[in-house]
Amino acid sequence: MSAPRPPAPSPAPARQVRCPACGGPSLYAPENAFRPFCSQRCKLHDLGAWANESFRMEVQEDDAGNPPSAGTDG
Ligand SMILES: [Zn+2]
Repeated sequence: MSAPRPPAPSPAPARQVRCPACGGPSLYAPENAFRPFCSQRCKLHDLGAWANESFRMEVQEDDAGNPPSAGTDG
């Protein structure tokens, strides 16, 4: 009598997700320290994106100078 053997427990296949930075295939696995990004570059790029927007400082050096005050004559 042969009992039906359950399927061999196969290791969870690496999931592939879409990298939110470049849209490319990213490995969603513990070995990918930059998930859901595909690489460190994409991760940093994403962080840098909002950082630039947040910490963007526009320095306007509009130093036209004061108009010469005309002395009152009279
Ligand atoms: Zn990417």
